[in-house]
Amino acid sequence: MFRTLIIIAALLLVFLIIKNRLNSRRLQPKKPGSTTTDNMVKCLQCETYIPRKEAIISGTEIFCCKQHQRDWEKGHKN
Ligand SMILES: [Zn+2]
Repeated sequence: MFRTLIIIAALLLVFLIIKNRLNSRRLQPKKPGSTTTDNMVKCLQCETYIPRKEAIISGTEIFCCKQHQRDWEKGHKN
């Protein structure tokens, strides 16, 4: 009787380990491949799309370079 309990407990343990591994594999989030397009922003001055991390962002205004930021501010701010 005692031996049977140990075997059942061992089988249960193996079952739980396998279940945990399957769950953790399933829980790994897949990285969407379209993140690059989501991070593209448009320069206000020349309307060129550039990666957000390379853009110059001042408030709500986005530029591809410092020169275009200056040019745009010249034309839109007094
Ligand atoms: Zn630009």
